Amino acid sequence: CGIFAYLNYLTPKSRQEVLDLLVTGLKRLEYRGYDSTGVAIDSPDNKNIVMVKRTGKVKVLEEAIQEHFSGREYSEPVLTHVGIAHTRWATHGVPCEKNSHPHRSDDENGFVVVHNGIITNYNDVKTFLSKRGYEFESDTDTEVFAKLVHHLWKTHPTYSFRELVEQAILQVEGAFAIAVKSKYFPGECVASRRSSPLLVGIKTKTRLATDHIPILYGKVLPRSESTSEFMPLEEKEVEYFFASDASAVIEHTNRVIYLEDDDVAAVRDGTLSIHRLKKSLDDPHAREITTLK
Ligand code: GLU
Repeated sequence: CGIFAYLNYLTPKSRQEVLDLLVTGLKRLEYRGYDSTGVAIDSPDNKNIVMVKRTGKVKVLEEAIQEHFSGREYSEPVLTHVGIAHTRWATHGVPCEKNSHPHRSDDENGFVVVHNGIITNYNDVKTFLSKRGYEFESDTDTEVFAKLVHHLWKTHPTYSFRELVEQAILQVEGAFAIAVKSKYFPGECVASRRSSPLLVGIKTKTRLATDHIPILYGKVLPRSESTSEFMPLEEKEVEYFFASDASAVIEHTNRVIYLEDDDVAAVRDGTLSIHRLKKSLDDPHAREITTLK
């Protein structure tokens, strides 16, 4: 079971290159064990999110991807793109395509989620959402997360993507590492963890101007009002990786941040921020950017 997500900002990459990166990332995580795999990327017209999932090995997914995304439109470079990928070790629902990740919020693929771990109160969340008209297409605990984010988005139209995920993690119990991608927030990726491992890899052309990221606490200003809360990056072109394990990012970058429980990491306009809802006395002010050896 493993998560791998990739985001390029002002670094031209074709969808095929993004898919290659995702597949390689999943291969590096293969040793962790899994029974099925899946990826999600943007459609060439950017209006949709396309997912491919398979039961079995990453190799099977790779072949399906080659078939699915061979068109010329997939080889054209885009400046910014988010792709998410997953290897699953089934805990809730048998290994099969419909139970494979990513899971989606609705048939428009508004929000798509990859998750490692177990959401222990998924039945309560499911009941809550079913009463509000949500129908479920898989037997997993994970699907409730995608639908919960969608419900929050519907009911809190002013929330940023990060706030939506923050509110969702407040409602779920258990263990998770998650990465979320949304049709409504193109070029953004939000990830979080509790008890399951997750790190962020940062790749820039020149040396990073900082060795830490300040942690933001409490409620943040609405989207338009927030200004200097983000990471001071000298370099405009940047690539980010979210992965369960450093072995999946080391070939791209040796600069990583190990997220702590309940950190919410979000990339927007190419900048990374790490946020926590509550601050206790001994909480640090920043997360260190570690250099892998
Ligand atoms: N509990 C989730 C599922 O069964 C995620 C399992 C995993 O960590 O791969 O789909």
